[in-house]
Amino acid sequence: MNFNTSNSYQQVVDRVRAAAPAHSIIDTLGNLEVGNASYPLLKITFGTRGGKTVLISAGIHGDEPAGVEAVCTFLESRLYEPYLGEWEFHVIPCINPTGFEAGTRENHAGEDLNRAFQWEHPPLEVACVKSVFANGPFDLDLELHEDVDSVGYYLYQKDQDNFVSDLGRKILDAVELVMPLDENEEIEESPADRGLLARLKGPEEMDFWPMAIYAYVQGCRHMFTMETSGRFPLKQRIEAHLTGIEVALREFSRVSR
Ligand SMILES: [Zn+2]
Repeated sequence: MNFNTSNSYQQVVDRVRAAAPAHSIIDTLGNLEVGNASYPLLKITFGTRGGKTVLISAGIHGDEPAGVEAVCTFLESRLYEPYLGEWEFHVIPCINPTGFEAGTRENHAGEDLNRAFQWEHPPLEVACVKSVFANGPFDLDLELHEDVDSVGYYLYQKDQDNFVSDLGRKILDAVELVMPLDENEEIEESPADRGLLARLKGPEEMDFWPMAIYAYVQGCRHMFTMETSGRFPLKQRIEAHLTGIEVALREFSRVSR
């Protein structure tokens, strides 16, 4: 993969700390110790207590930097502002700092963190992410990914069974103005409809649990795993992610809880 491999997690931490909105709570979910290095796994919480809750996360795969960059830009450009009165934001800017620095999908121990949510003894990074679900499910779970092989943007949509929504389609319609969609009828072995992967396996059918399935099992209402295509320049991928976040928040704001 040709993504920039000179990423510094410390720079991400510095950017996030500098950009965190007033009255944010900045939690260190855990400290990842690797050799002489220590990586604090940060979560930022802000917005309206008791409002709709959204978890925005990125960088669980270290070689997918646009998500991490998008989260930093989301904070720095205060794109959350129109939603502060209605939403409580929970943001994990980079779940896999060692992979982010090395430019690898896996962490320093060679583990694909997005396959480890059902493990009895998951890696520390995963245990940290799981801990944020302890206070109850989120209304919306937005997970930012990239796919170096895809021809365009696509997303996985997972809902609780009793919840029907065209939110995924709305996100895709908006992102398409920024980046072409992956129009293949099958993506990553799932049936796809112009970039929408909504007919997904349930947890009982899966050999492993990614984060979105863990969120689903925890009772989160609506999960999106959003994938930009690595074929496009970083700036365009960041823009695609920011568009996806914005449309998800805007459209979900109209939905009653
Ligand atoms: Zn990924």
